[in-house]
Amino acid sequence: MKSNNLETMFYEKIGQKEIKTIENSKNIDNSLVQCKTCSRECIVKENSYGFCYRRKNINGKLYYINYNNFSAQSIDPIEKKPLYHFLPNSLSYSIGGYGCNMSCLNCQNHSISQIKNEYNIINNDSINNDSINNNTINNNNSINNFMNIKNTMNDETNIENENNTYVKLESIGNKIVKNAINNNCKSISFTYNEPTIHIEEYIQIAKIAQNNGLKTIFVSNGYMSNESLKYILKNVDAFNIDLKAYSNEFYKNICNAKLDIVLKNIKKIYKEKKHIEITNLLINNLNDFNEMIKSLVDFILNNLNDEVPLHFSRAFPNYKMNNIKPTKLETLKKAKKIAIDSGLENVYLGNMPIKY
Ligand code: SF4
Repeated sequence: MKSNNLETMFYEKIGQKEIKTIENSKNIDNSLVQCKTCSRECIVKENSYGFCYRRKNINGKLYYINYNNFSAQSIDPIEKKPLYHFLPNSLSYSIGGYGCNMSCLNCQNHSISQIKNEYNIINNDSINNDSINNNTINNNNSINNFMNIKNTMNDETNIENENNTYVKLESIGNKIVKNAINNNCKSISFTYNEPTIHIEEYIQIAKIAQNNGLKTIFVSNGYMSNESLKYILKNVDAFNIDLKAYSNEFYKNICNAKLDIVLKNIKKIYKEKKHIEITNLLINNLNDFNEMIKSLVDFILNNLNDEVPLHFSRAFPNYKMNNIKPTKLETLKKAKKIAIDSGLENVYLGNMPIKY
């Protein structure tokens, strides 16, 4: 009952205004809407959610829900993203939300990425406070903050002040950017969960950040749609893409996704001359085979270049794979050797004990 009342309020509030947008959703019929934000391309029934739970079909229109509802905001060394060759030794103001467009069985951030509800009500400080709450969970009255996807993506020129939603977003973006600058950060990172599913909100923040001299970073699984990637590329300076395995089977069985889409998007990001680093989380007996590692390295060498940084990362038991053992240290060292022997110049190990 509560939810219905809120939905009515959201709809009434934002149904008043139509503004131009990029085509990231399309109506299949009067009630079905297809979301084109990421490559999952969910067809969403009325009153239902897309896979990520960040989009909802209300009366035949698709809405981005839960904006200004951050799961975390934190000031991190940029190396924690990890980015080792972009603004080294700087701080990055890092924000994340809830939900994901994949459902990796080993997700290390499943407590925020695999939440399957709409509101994520967790009482906490709001980003409207000027104080920084490292790694806090925020719920800034997100129930008032709905956006119609069709109405929010095309902001290229002059929608400010015409639409409450945009004005609010601008104010959120300004606060985040102010926090970042006041804390000596050189960039804003969209991270922790998949940023693509927050594209309407994050790109507005990215624009404000860039206008104020900050760089912008996407830490992503690389599963965005062509349309979204074009839009992201215009406003994001650097990427760390999680290439989970060079295996269709792994993507299908572990991540519920498709490898070829991620590879295509990595190539596109590189072609557009954006800074890119790749992370590969190695899991015992699943994606740590020599041939698979070699194929992943060869993909980088053949399609990007030998200087693109590659981060092999150690997996720990988590989420639905809580019975696995931490990745063997020898496996990580072996992967690094394969990559270096193949010709990659910048290979790093992550999630390792300090002595490594
Ligand atoms: S962003 Fe992706 S996962 Fe979410 S509703 Fe759209 S197509 Fe589905």
